[in-house]
Amino acid sequence: MPLPRQLIKQLQRIVGRRQVDTDFAELLVYESDGLTLRTARPGCVVYPSSTEECARVVKACHGAGVPYVPRGAGTGLSGGAISDGGVIIQLSRMSKLLGIHPDDRYAIVQPGVVNNYLNLQARPHGLEFAPDPSSQAACTIGGNLAENAGGPHTLKYGVTSNHILGQTVVFADGEIATFGGPFPVRTGPDFSTFLTGTEGTIAISTEITVRLVPTAATATTMLAVYPSVSGATDSVSAILAAGVLPTAMELIDNLCIQAVEGHLKAGFPTDAAAVLLIELDGEEQLMKRDAEAVARACKANGATDFHTAQTEDERQSLWRGRKHAVGSLGKITPAFYTNDGVVPRSKLTAILQVSYKVAQGHGIRVAHVCHAGDGNIHPLILYDPDESQGPERAMACSEDILLACLEMGGSLTGEHGIGAEKRNLLPRMFTEDDLGHMLRLRDGLNREGLLNPGKIFPTGAKCGELRNQPVFPSGTWI
Ligand SMILES: Cc1cc2nc3c(=O)[nH]c(=O)nc-3n(C[C@H](O)[C@H](O)[C@H](O)COP(=O)(O)OP(=O)(O)OC[C@H]3O[C@@H](n4cnc5c(N)ncnc54)[C@H](O)[C@@H]3O)c2cc1C
Repeated sequence: MPLPRQLIKQLQRIVGRRQVDTDFAELLVYESDGLTLRTARPGCVVYPSSTEECARVVKACHGAGVPYVPRGAGTGLSGGAISDGGVIIQLSRMSKLLGIHPDDRYAIVQPGVVNNYLNLQARPHGLEFAPDPSSQAACTIGGNLAENAGGPHTLKYGVTSNHILGQTVVFADGEIATFGGPFPVRTGPDFSTFLTGTEGTIAISTEITVRLVPTAATATTMLAVYPSVSGATDSVSAILAAGVLPTAMELIDNLCIQAVEGHLKAGFPTDAAAVLLIELDGEEQLMKRDAEAVARACKANGATDFHTAQTEDERQSLWRGRKHAVGSLGKITPAFYTNDGVVPRSKLTAILQVSYKVAQGHGIRVAHVCHAGDGNIHPLILYDPDESQGPERAMACSEDILLACLEMGGSLTGEHGIGAEKRNLLPRMFTEDDLGHMLRLRDGLNREGLLNPGKIFPTGAKCGELRNQPVFPSGTWI
């Protein structure tokens, strides 16, 4: 159903005629985010340039009873930034870096600032924003906050919520509020942290204060090569048991290595079953001692080769390989579906065995990259969208792997969020009571449910309705 003409006119008055898109071709761009298996066409896209404009846009949509969805770079992998017939509030014009404060180690940004851009501006001050999703060349700080994004270096430095100090938000009714700030405020409830990770379903972040951490003066990157995947997964626990906390421990399996090396020649051996990319940073002597412990743990668990990057170029090349690992799969498959699950680290070996077995059962190839130190796995499920039942088999395979993660005491997501993708699996992870309490909180602050509807919680679930909500049958996408 088209949006009311009155609303379009009102939006044009708020942001200017050219900042409202209703053109069919333009809207196509917004039909999906990084999860291309799920599409929905918005009624229009509007580009506010300030908190005040954003609040007026929200008030207009709210008044018209039309749903609205905030969107950053659209790299999200759980279908969180799409809208079926509603208004996309595209935050790319709100991309100003409002200030870097090196002495107090923080920065204030608008939500559309790209993660890498913030780092480029902070590095001359010897500082950086620690969360480093592999999509950091494109994704925004607003999207990072909403998804509570992680990345390779979150093993040591923590996820996004550990680096958000405060934020100004626009609530679902258009009211503006500010929580937290650059300096520790320990008075009252910590609403800024509460809002982090709510995937744009409670408020739109329009100004964000982030912690900056000193860039490590030195870092060592090591590559351990294994003839079996279990050797790599077992090494992860052994390294931590040896009392070493690397900044990153990333696993890449053979199929993914093939894709990377076919694409950009990062230096991964193509005959390895898996490699572990391990990074240490900090004081020289300590790093040397830890590197020896890491080498011992890897060799004791079957590493046939263990190599320390000798130059900065070599180090960067290995990291380029890791950061482009997912995208490189485009070289070997017409499409793939990125799964994101978590298990206790001690279950890494078991879950990867399950993942290969489940994929085999579905007649599908699966590659893996894992933030292994966090127990965060990314099975990359290869499929052909033109093949009969290709997408359906990929989704069924993904769901089986996620349910296995839950059985092992893990979680449905480590960093990509629930979005529209996994909302119907949520009742498998939380009790009805737990979900009911979460819904009460959401509904208290997003009363009409117009802000990013249909995300995180099973469709139609409103506070108090959950008890009657069927758990959707396996594989159902609505
Ligand atoms: C190749 C690739 C690699 C990736 N690697 C990682 C990784 O290593 N770690 C990781 O965590 N993620 C990763 N991702 C997923 C994705 O990049 C992150 O979730 C990222 O944080 C999304 O940012 P975005 O700006 O693209 O947000 P979008 O996709 O635009 O939006 C994501 C969600 O946030 C909401 N949102 C956006 N901006 C705001 C705002 N200002 N206020 C409130 N809600 C908002 C949206 O409504 C939506 O629900 C990867 C994605 C790709 C494609």
